Amino acid sequence: MHELSLCESVLQVLEQQAQIENYQTVTAVYLEIGALSGVDPEAMRFCFDSVVQGSLAEKARLEIIEIAGQAWCSACNANVLVEQRYESCPNCGSYPLQINDGDQMRIKQLEVA
Ligand SMILES: [Zn+2]
Repeated sequence: MHELSLCESVLQVLEQQAQIENYQTVTAVYLEIGALSGVDPEAMRFCFDSVVQGSLAEKARLEIIEIAGQAWCSACNANVLVEQRYESCPNCGSYPLQINDGDQMRIKQLEVA
């Protein structure tokens, strides 16, 4: 389950930021998870709760923002929504598409105390 190591790296970022920005507690983490990132939001929630035990983010609320997959279709000359990374264009069937959103996971915002 790679979500566990992802949660651990999220926590590392929180700890590094805490030193830079001088906060002691994280009260909320807003995490963007793209539909094409291969990250399971439910698994992230599950892992997050156990990974943050005893850390500065122990009481933090995890807010997951799911980002739809978006790709550029050069045949349609438009952005289209995709659910899978290797999907053809839902409008014209063209392939491959150039993914331009929804393939990332990143910390969007933190609430700290
Ligand atoms: Zn198309």
